[in-house]
Amino acid sequence: MQTNFKEKQGKRKDKNFTEETKELFRNNFECWQCGMNTWDCFHHCMGGDFDEADSPFNAVPLCNATCHIDGGHHFSEKQINTFLAMTMRYLYLKGYELTRKDKMFIIKFKKRYESTELGSEYLKYYRKRQ
Ligand SMILES: [Zn+2]
Ligand SMILES: [Zn+2]
Repeated sequence: MQTNFKEKQGKRKDKNFTEETKELFRNNFECWQCGMNTWDCFHHCMGGDFDEADSPFNAVPLCNATCHIDGGHHFSEKQINTFLAMTMRYLYLKGYELTRKDKMFIIKFKKRYESTELGSEYLKYYRKRQ
C-alpha cells in the first residue's frame, strides 16, 4: 500500500497531522468511504485551518483519487458526521487517550457526534472513560 499522507497540496493551509496520528492509523486498512483497503490519504473532516484541526479526531482515511477528490471533495453533512463517528470509534477501540486538544475538538463538534447513532454511542463510552 502506498501511503501519501499529504492532504491537498498547496492553496489552503491545512494543519498537517502529526507523526503520532499517522502511527495511530498505521494498522488500519479501511477507507471510511468505500471500505476497501486502498486508503492513501487523510481528509481533514472539519477542514484544516483551526486550532484543533490536527487532532486525530479530525482525520479520515480515504482513497485519495477515488473517494477523496472525486466528486469535487464535497461530502454531505450526514457523511461528514458519519466520518467523525467512525474515527471516534476507531480511536476508542484502539484505546487512544484524549489530549486537551482532542477534548476541545469533540466539544466543538458535539452536535455532529450526537447526530448519528454511532457517534452518540462512542461519545458516551469516551465520557465514561474520562
Ligand atoms: Zn475509498
Ligand atoms: Zn480532504
